[in-house]
Amino acid sequence: MLKLFNTLTRKIEIFRPIKQGKVGIYSCGPTVYDFAHIGNLRAYIFVDLLKRYLIYSGFKVKHVMNITDVDDKTIKNSQQNNKSLQEFTDFYSKAFIKDIKSLNIKMPDIMPRATKHIPEMVDLIKKIGKHGYSYKSEKSIYFKISKFSDYGKLAQLDKQTLKQNAAGRLNISDEYEKEQVNDFVLWKAWQPEDGEVFWDTEIGKGRPGWHIECSAMSTKYLGEIFDIHTGGVDLIFPHHTNEIAQSEAAFKKKFVNYWLHNEHLLVEGKKMSKSLGNFYALKDIKDKKYNLLLMRLILLKTHYRKVLNFTLKDLDEAKSIAEKFLSFLAGLDFVVCGGSNNLDIKNMISQSRKEFKKAMDNDLNISSGLASLFDFIEEVYKRKSLISTNQAQEIKNYIFEIDEVLGFIRPLYEQYQMRLNKKLATKKILNMISKREKARKNKDYKEADKIRIDLLEKGIVIEDTEKGDKARLLKIID
Ligand SMILES: [Zn+2]
Repeated sequence: MLKLFNTLTRKIEIFRPIKQGKVGIYSCGPTVYDFAHIGNLRAYIFVDLLKRYLIYSGFKVKHVMNITDVDDKTIKNSQQNNKSLQEFTDFYSKAFIKDIKSLNIKMPDIMPRATKHIPEMVDLIKKIGKHGYSYKSEKSIYFKISKFSDYGKLAQLDKQTLKQNAAGRLNISDEYEKEQVNDFVLWKAWQPEDGEVFWDTEIGKGRPGWHIECSAMSTKYLGEIFDIHTGGVDLIFPHHTNEIAQSEAAFKKKFVNYWLHNEHLLVEGKKMSKSLGNFYALKDIKDKKYNLLLMRLILLKTHYRKVLNFTLKDLDEAKSIAEKFLSFLAGLDFVVCGGSNNLDIKNMISQSRKEFKKAMDNDLNISSGLASLFDFIEEVYKRKSLISTNQAQEIKNYIFEIDEVLGFIRPLYEQYQMRLNKKLATKKILNMISKREKARKNKDYKEADKIRIDLLEKGIVIEDTEKGDKARLLKIID
């Protein structure tokens, strides 16, 4: 039974979906004014792992992730780049999608853009107003938090902390427009610096506040109440706190059952920043000639509720972990014997599967999950000589089954196979292999060995099996 840590209660709870067998998930997506950095991407790897595990456990998942394509930063940066808001945000939305695809993150079912949902936001703001939770000041509309008695529950903030928090993040102009410092904007009246970015609506000329975007889009696609909402811990307050206030004020019911938050990512113990020079986007990892799926493994293998301290050394460590899996799979391709019936591989697999599920059911305990797989691999190695070709295939299928959750082994293996096949399709290599075979048949072992070493220099390892020679690549991960 799956258990998850719910930020709302600060407890690990049994996951019970609203509709049996179905799960609705909303994730706060990127604000598209720049390339995503690896800290941003951690949040999307986390939700990908959650989603893949829910699917693996038999749930039908509907996943919505928004794209924030209008806010202060997108407007400012588009103006600085002399581009329209749409042109500017289109570019970074595409870059984001490319990034998540290169990390083998499953695409959300729906990726709504804020600018395409202005009528829904206006409706929601009207509803909040009708219930008396908002007021107009200087043509902007604010949420009146003193009216919402549960305010701050998610962040577990008392009213005193709230005052201090809010005081630190307000500028003077905001302050005198609001009745109370914590009140937040639902609809921002147009100002000259917004340029051509505005919507003329029945609640005024302007644009939505950031928080209302997520309340409106999640409700549109998942309903007034849904199962899981995800995001980074930095979103608990004020963003998610405000989403709850808006939605519950409008619909008079609980907004979300399970709030799941991933921890921060640090680089060499420090917060990532461009000025410190410790800022990494995927492009920087690629420039260092590392396979991006290794970055997936790094972001995946630390439990989502632990701070992840990234260093460049992690890439080499991830490489050696991935190599373990891949050389295991490549080794299975070398199994050619009929095998004996002494090996109960089905039982070994079902035991391992049980261990993996037990770990993941416990709030996605990925390190135990991976450890259970390594134990399985070790057990198989111990019995290597007993494995039949069919069993080798069963083992491989099992690893691929688990990789439906992990998402890095199969794609790396397929890359490996492609490189191998490409090499084996070249005439020169083929000639060398057949020459070596001939030499061996003629018992000219000296010549055969010489060719074997030449092939090794070209990155190909030849192993002789009962059914002839088999080739693999020396370099398992490119
Ligand atoms: Zn959001």
